[in-house]
Amino acid sequence: MKFQPKASHFIDGEYVEDTAGAPIDVVYPATGEIIARLHSATPAIVDRALAAAKDAQKAWEAMTGTERGRVLRRAADIMRDRNHELSVIETHDTGKPIQETTVADATSGADALEYFGGLAPSLTGEHIPLAGGDFAYTIREALGVCVGIGAWNYPTQIACWKGAPALACGNTMVFKPSETTPLSALKVAEILVEAGAPKGVYNVVQGYGDVGAALVTDPRVAKVSLTGSVPTGRKVYAAAAGGMKHVTMELGGKSPMIVFDDADVENAVSGAILGNFYSSGQVCSNGTRVFVQEGIKEAFLTRLAERLAKARIGDPMDPEVSFGPVVSQGQMEIVKGYIAKAVAEGARLVFGGRQLDRAGFYLEPTVFADVTDDMTIAREEIFGPVMSVLDFASEEEVMARANATEFGLAAGVFTRDLSRAHRVVRGFEAGTCYINTYNLAPVEAPFGGSKMSGIGRENSKLAINHYSELKTVYVSMNDVEAPY
Ligand code: NAD
Repeated sequence: MKFQPKASHFIDGEYVEDTAGAPIDVVYPATGEIIARLHSATPAIVDRALAAAKDAQKAWEAMTGTERGRVLRRAADIMRDRNHELSVIETHDTGKPIQETTVADATSGADALEYFGGLAPSLTGEHIPLAGGDFAYTIREALGVCVGIGAWNYPTQIACWKGAPALACGNTMVFKPSETTPLSALKVAEILVEAGAPKGVYNVVQGYGDVGAALVTDPRVAKVSLTGSVPTGRKVYAAAAGGMKHVTMELGGKSPMIVFDDADVENAVSGAILGNFYSSGQVCSNGTRVFVQEGIKEAFLTRLAERLAKARIGDPMDPEVSFGPVVSQGQMEIVKGYIAKAVAEGARLVFGGRQLDRAGFYLEPTVFADVTDDMTIAREEIFGPVMSVLDFASEEEVMARANATEFGLAAGVFTRDLSRAHRVVRGFEAGTCYINTYNLAPVEAPFGGSKMSGIGRENSKLAINHYSELKTVYVSMNDVEAPY
């Protein structure tokens, strides 16, 4: 099999196999064929990975930030050099068009490695002057062994968004990719070793939810960072609480995108396309509830349909193809179920809606108009190429409706009115907001959700606080006064 890795797991600097674990078939979403077979980690493999991470941690933390940063920056360079090879793997793992993976996956992983590699030398505590010449200082320390658990939509990026800040702070990591897309994290591990990471610093174990659960509850683990759905997040957060572990939760969403009458129609349509159909709609922060003000509705829907007709659907390895399959048969069935429900509940299908008559898991980009707030497709995360267009009249009304959800990952507004744009984002109950654009997530800016969409932030300097903690040292310059 063309994409068969040397072994399922990467532990202590080398590939490790244990065929006693349940099989994991890697399926190419464009054809349905099996391109690799891996095995879920047995308890022995989980133990070996955590032991390797634990053994490696103190020495890794003892290196200077400059030395750790150099390893991460070298890894970033290697990833960029191998972008094509990594993009081909990512496309086969996820089904995302090579046109996308070439610019959004290994490249954004490399950005994270470079950014946190650059920050590593400057991670310090501070000096705090106190009364009578006393002072305190803080020491920024690593948390220890961190566990990363990934979703299947951005496997390389997630492996790096978690690994880079963790390693920059002197932690070691055991990363478990999604069982649906297990291939690219192994490459990240390989590259880190090649870049000079000591063995055991970054380990990868494969597995289903039970392997994730075993990692989360192990007493050797200090922190868990999950990218996944809200139901999984609830379970992982609760399990981590038992051991008072640090957590970062990057979870699902049902984000609003509001298009006011005065918006630039082309930009709003572009934002809606990016925020609903990039990666075949399998992006957590997607603006899947598109509220369009009455005066612009027809122009918006007309241009949207014209632009969607230009999507090139097909073989994701063809560089001209801009829209690929969804990740799996199971996910396709879920999305088809939502499309059927939307029709049954009275939404108006204005584009797409069908499965393509070809091998693989292909759905058309699909748009429903006249969607109302109570319809299932307006309330639940679909995680597929289905856009809901909802009508609205006033700003006050749309803000109340936009926020009437348990999710709070992202939100966007399209308008030419500067004051309104800022007022609207101030009113959004969401962690990541956009004005006149959608779905950009540069490593320099914090990314994450509020409400049920998550805890903590990834990327930016803020991520450092989620992968380190401060020790406070009080230093007396005076005699100690005691009452007796
Ligand atoms: P999922 O929740 O089914 O699985 C996520 C990961 O958790 C997988 O690796 C899975 O094996 C593991 N897992 C499952 N049960 C577990 C348990 N009990 N303990 C520990 N680990 C467990 O999510 P998915 O279907 O892989 O991904 C889609 C979801 O991820 C969507 O809801 C999407 O919005 C979300 N997502 C969020 C972000 C973000 O940054 N906020 C990014 C991408 C995806």
